[in-house]
Amino acid sequence: MTHNYDWLDTEFTALEHAGLRRHLRTVMSAPTGTINLDGRDVVLLGSNNYLGLSTHPQVIAAAVEATQTFGTGASGSRLISGNSELYTTLETNLAKVKNTEAALVFSSGYTANTGVIPILAGEGDLILSDALNHASIIDGCRLSRATKKVYRHCDVEHLKGLLSESTAFRRRLIVTDGVFSMDGDIAPLPDIHNLATEYDAMLLVDDAHGFGILGRDGSGTVAHFGLENRDIIQMGTLSKAIGALGGYITGSRTLIELLINKARGLIFTTGLPPATLAAANAALNVMRSSPELRQHLFLHAKHLKLALIDLGYTLLPSETQILPVVLGSPQRATNISEALLAEGVFAPAIRPPAVPPDTSRLRLTVMATHTETEIQHAIDAFATLSQNSVKDLHS
Ligand SMILES: *Cc1c(COP(=O)(O)O)cnc(C)c1O
Repeated sequence: MTHNYDWLDTEFTALEHAGLRRHLRTVMSAPTGTINLDGRDVVLLGSNNYLGLSTHPQVIAAAVEATQTFGTGASGSRLISGNSELYTTLETNLAKVKNTEAALVFSSGYTANTGVIPILAGEGDLILSDALNHASIIDGCRLSRATKKVYRHCDVEHLKGLLSESTAFRRRLIVTDGVFSMDGDIAPLPDIHNLATEYDAMLLVDDAHGFGILGRDGSGTVAHFGLENRDIIQMGTLSKAIGALGGYITGSRTLIELLINKARGLIFTTGLPPATLAAANAALNVMRSSPELRQHLFLHAKHLKLALIDLGYTLLPSETQILPVVLGSPQRATNISEALLAEGVFAPAIRPPAVPPDTSRLRLTVMATHTETEIQHAIDAFATLSQNSVKDLHS
């Protein structure tokens, strides 16, 4: 290549020196409690397939049948020829689960957030966003051209202050994760909803990690707080507890119609494959009728969390299946992740920009389908590490 591309080397070297180089690892099996990673069997503590639904027999059967009936691809965007009847079934089911008037499925959670936010807010409007919101929310805010103010993580007083000093804007939108993706804590939605009502602001909740987990039948964080039917726009994904792919928005019929007509993240991308739509729909049904999956999930989370605290690790105060072990520098997080891998446990290191500087961490997630033996194996690996006193583990 010509010297015009020399900067690629410079930039890549800088990344490596900062401990921020990322590697693609190759998974050679289904995302169950133990996976084959680069040819080795390891306990998986880094999957969002929380309920194990991506390998559920009923879900797989639905995907296979849909492929046989409808083929492998959507063949077009939803507004052209890609809107199979599987979408109607799935969206009707989603609206029922969420107890909302309507639902709309996007091709991913990322395109749902970047699609909906620019419809809700534009130039002359204000978006109030939690400091730890997901990157897809941040990108949606950028695309919207609205003014953005970031409030301190879950700080309702700070949010209130920003609302009271910003009455000149045309419209205001508060946006927050329901369950925070890298911290596992739950947003104080009742307080945030009260503020939205008091200050005439819209409220959008990203429930990527609460859906399938919290609330009645796993219907999510909004239901967990008893806030259904309260004028809250919900976003979520079909890619985590549901084990498939796709994002969704739920709300009023008018909101959904407007999105169909205007959301670029819906209009300018191909529809989801039939297998994915059918799998998501089947997984929704399993999710609702299987409270024991959520029970197992929470038992595993509690067991792992208490054991790690006992071993002296510092965990963030998460109440969910996401257990962050904060380690500080990116190098330290990577070293400990590598040491765990050597012990047969895959606990991925999460580094900036996914998390703020100096809060690099292992983001451990448990699955309902982990066995006791697998969880114990993970605990033993962490115990071995602290015994071998991996440098400054407890500093
Ligand atoms: C994963 C995630 C998304 C994006 O969803 P995809 O379906 O993976 O595109 C959005 N928001 C949050 C909070 C997430 O964790």
